[in-house]
Order: sequence, then structure tokens, then C-alpha cells
Amino acid sequence: MNIRPHLESLPPYAPIEPFDVLSARSGRDSAQIIKLDANENPYGPLLVVREALGKLDFPHIYPDPESRALRKALATFTGVAEDHLLAGSGADELIDLLMRVFLEPTDCILSCPPTFGMYPFDAELNAAHCVEVPRNADFSLDMESIRKAVEAYRPKLFFITSPNNPDGSLIPPDVMDELLSLPTLIVLDEAYIEFAGENLGSGLSRIREVTVRENLFVLRTFSKWAGLAGLRIGYGAFPKWLMSTLWKSKQPYNVNVAASVAAQVSLAHVEELTQVVERLKNERMRLCSTLQEISYLEPYPTQSNFILCKVIGRDAAELKSRLAQEYGIFIRYFNKPGLRDHIRISVGRPDDTDALIKALKE
Ligand code: PMP
Repeated sequence: MNIRPHLESLPPYAPIEPFDVLSARSGRDSAQIIKLDANENPYGPLLVVREALGKLDFPHIYPDPESRALRKALATFTGVAEDHLLAGSGADELIDLLMRVFLEPTDCILSCPPTFGMYPFDAELNAAHCVEVPRNADFSLDMESIRKAVEAYRPKLFFITSPNNPDGSLIPPDVMDELLSLPTLIVLDEAYIEFAGENLGSGLSRIREVTVRENLFVLRTFSKWAGLAGLRIGYGAFPKWLMSTLWKSKQPYNVNVAASVAAQVSLAHVEELTQVVERLKNERMRLCSTLQEISYLEPYPTQSNFILCKVIGRDAAELKSRLAQEYGIFIRYFNKPGLRDHIRISVGRPDDTDALIKALKE
């Protein structure tokens, strides 16, 4: 009855469903489902992580509200001192946290679609709204329109994703520098950076710059490269001036014990995880070249663990449904401007690629 009016009209976010739900819905055993719809890591956590999860010391005790041990390990991993770092229940939590901290009702954020759908959703959840500056047809940023929009709307936060979801393109360094010179706070979402370039994207990430720039926040996650999507663990790096506000605004026990242990053990075995990422990058290359053989698909170059394809002369939504219904292969279709004739395929294991290509050829 007395629900806040902006929530009554807000359409729900359309989430991706897990194996058991897909299994119940499709009548297939989960072993018969090929899940290439949410950019998850098909290899899951390292064995050492699974073992550590099986013998947690203190699951009955509330977790460290400051995630101290995890932040210490993250400081070594990222090269950013721990007093600039905050962990969250997935990068998703941190997106929402930033909005709660910065947005007054009627304020706006800026976003450049096609991109991750949580930015406008969370803005509206927080009674604000999202000004959108669409990307060019090749998914590059329309800098001229961005400059005008920043001037006209004065967004409190500008969310930008690199590599971008759903196309996998990176923002070139000079373009990023230009964004950072705009009079707004930049939230750079690097959820997929570990799949870009070499060495888990360390040469391409801008995360270390948060210590010297006042207007840059960088978000990261363990969901993709480390295979921990189900445990919900992400982190952000922020300038010092923001930290005390973030600390008091977050939920006290936002990072659960299992997620924290899984992330710490993952960071203690970065070499092995790098091999998993390399395996996925190799498979990405194979998937991309085999998709090029499908006459009705045009894959885009990608620096991430998914490939966006333009669907030519066929209905993309129908293609997605048929793959699910007839083959148990789940991919992503977005009923959104600029994407209605596209599908996004997450990179899976070699067997997943083979099954997908066979189905697409049939
Ligand atoms: N940012 C982007 C660009 C994403 O694609 C995702 C996951 N789909 C997230 C953030 C959220 O990551 P997490 O699982 O850590 O909440």
C-alpha cells in the first residue's frame, strides 16, 4: 500500500536462472544442460578452494566486517593499498552501495548502452534515473555526445565497463584518459579485465590509479575469472576521501565467511587460476573462429569470456529459444535497443563449444 511510488512502477530485473531451475523448467538433468548465458566460469573454483570450503573454521561466527585478511591479500594482488579497498557481496553490491552513497532522488547517473543492465536498474531502485548515451554501432564510445551529456545533466556517477558486457571491447587508454578528465565521478567496472591482454589484465587495468586520482572508482569481481559467482564476492578500489563513507554505509557483515575464504584461497593460488583463464582464452579463440563458419552469425572481437554475435537473416530470440528447448544449450538474448538481432555466448569448455557448433549447424 505505502510502497515508495518509484518502486511500484519499476520493472523487475530479469536475472539468469541457475542449473536446478533450468533443469526443472526444461525437464533435462543438469548434466545435460550447457550453460553459456551468464559468463560464469565453467571450471568453477580451484580444488583447493573447494577443500577449504569443506572445512571452514568459524561458519557459526559473524564474518570480519572489515574483511581484513581478504583486503590484505587483495592489496598484494592488485598493488593497491588495503585502505583503498572494500569487499562486497559481488560487484553488484558495490554498484548499489555507490548509488546509495551518492544519489539523491531525481539525481542521475550516466551509462553508455548496450552495457550491463544493473546500472539503470539500481539507479531507479535508488529513486534516481539513468541518462543513456548509446555507443556507436561498433560499440565504441560516442565521446562528443558523452561530453555534451555530462555538461547538460551533471551526472553524479558515470558507469563505464571495460571490457564491456555484452560485446567484450576494451576502452582504449586515451579514451579512458579523456573520460577521467570530465567533471564527474567515473565508476570503471572491470568485472572481466582478467580475460583481457596478458597476466590477468594487469597491464590494462586502471585500478592502481585510484590512489592518485580523486574521481576514479574501480570495481572487480571473483565471479568470472575465479569461478566464484555462486558465492558472491567482489571488491572495489576507491580514493581515500570516499572510504570512511563507504565503511559506514555498507551492511556490517556484507561478505560471508565462505566467500571470503574462497577468495583468499583463490588469491593464494593465482598461478593455477591464471592457467584456467588462459584455457578459457584459448577456447575463446577456437569458439570465435568456429562461429565465423556459421553463415548466419557474425562474431565481434572480444577481450572477455563471452562473444557477441550479430544474427543475420534469422530471428535471434527464436534462435536462443530453440537452442534451449531442442538442445539444452542456454545462451543470452537481450530484448533491448541495439541488441535485438544479437546473441551473447559465454566461453565454455571444448565440449560445450563442440555441442553448440553442432547445434548451430543443424
Ligand atoms: N559488472 C558487469 C559488467 C557484469 O557483467 C557483472 C555480472 N554479470 C557484474 C558487474 C556483477 O558481478 P558480481 O557477480 O560480482 O556481482
